[in-house]
Amino acid sequence: MKLKIVKGTRDLYGDDVKRFQYIEEKARQVFSVYGYQEIRTPIFEKTELFAHGVGEGTDIVGKEMFLLEDRRGRSMALRPEGTAQVVRSVITNNMMRQNNHLRFYYFGPMFRYEQPQKGRFRQFYQIGAEYFGVSTPDADLELILILRQFFKEIQLHEISFQLNTIGCQKSDCRPAYKNKLIEFLQDHVDSLCENCSNRMHDNPLRVLDCKNESCIAVTSEAPKIHDTVCSDCKDHFSELCHMLDDHQVSYSVNFRLVRGLDYYSKTVFEVFSDNLGAQNAAGGGGRYDGLFEIYGAKVVPAIGFALGLDRLALLTSPEKKEQKSVFVVGTDRGAVCKLVATCREEDIICQYDPFQSSMKSQFRQANKSGAWKVLILGEEELKAKQVSVKDMQDGQQTVVELSAVVGYLKKSVAN
Ligand code: AMP
Repeated sequence: MKLKIVKGTRDLYGDDVKRFQYIEEKARQVFSVYGYQEIRTPIFEKTELFAHGVGEGTDIVGKEMFLLEDRRGRSMALRPEGTAQVVRSVITNNMMRQNNHLRFYYFGPMFRYEQPQKGRFRQFYQIGAEYFGVSTPDADLELILILRQFFKEIQLHEISFQLNTIGCQKSDCRPAYKNKLIEFLQDHVDSLCENCSNRMHDNPLRVLDCKNESCIAVTSEAPKIHDTVCSDCKDHFSELCHMLDDHQVSYSVNFRLVRGLDYYSKTVFEVFSDNLGAQNAAGGGGRYDGLFEIYGAKVVPAIGFALGLDRLALLTSPEKKEQKSVFVVGTDRGAVCKLVATCREEDIICQYDPFQSSMKSQFRQANKSGAWKVLILGEEELKAKQVSVKDMQDGQQTVVELSAVVGYLKKSVAN
């Protein structure tokens, strides 16, 4: 059997894991300041959860889900995104019964059958946040401020926010715009790419974010959604823009930004970085005031975002934390292991040579490990129940009683 990793997946270890941990740590820090609680949901759900919520006609559901059948023939899906699940969890656990608003964040792997390339995987990781219960633009503002703060924490400065409104389901809002857009596209169908001419009736908004040059040229002249949305959606959007200006958030309004999922309404946004290459979206989100209703629950206004952890990891280089570690060398295996265990029990980072090679080789390994101090248990030291402690920076050696060495090291760490 030839062992090979599955296409579009990867093992994370070494510096990659350090980057992930660093980003997760900063995210936790920022989310907790804003009162968000972690939620952990399963990595698979009934397929219908995503089909109904995200939408049958979307790429994610229509083309990209990893499906499996359980032993009783029921269709399950590896989660392609997190929002539908968190909403499912709020509903099935009846969480809104005692709360009029809730805030959650999550980390975890998502699965989409896409063509892998730099920054695009079939198993990738997202950090997401969801805010339930608040319909006013304060909630939209809060999420954007979280993003700004988080990017500042991970020292990512070259990012840009794009913002749009895609209206709501009221007949005089998005449906009216869709009709207008379809009418316009019909007059230009010959200039649209094949994909867009096929989807212009079912999903006309997606034509707006097609990357094909000819489609871009056509849609530059298309009616703009801002001019059609209902007064409620219009007010919501302009209030949000005022608030963002007030908080000195820089953003640009992009009428082409529609997001790929059906459940969005009103505000949608995306965060881009020019340093990511072709896959330049670091994250995105939006309001989804209608999703609870789609699942047959009482209406709960909601908004959220998801960030691509794999992509953020390409952009960040965590500051290296100086961790002081010690290395025990010696001639008596039992005594070395005992001292190592004592140090570790006292939270001192401690290594040794498990093969007990020559003293010379043990010293070489101590050096390579970047140890702060080497604890030497030679024959003389053992006889005298002492340890020689060598500082690897200045080469100075001090003899310490074996029973006092932990206290000595702790005191030195503190200095
Ligand atoms: P979406 O909700 O689809 O816009 O996803 C939010 C973020 O997740 C994107 O902006 C990307 O940073 C990241 N993402 C989405 N799909 C993938 C993928 N296949 N591989 C890596 N990251 C992804």
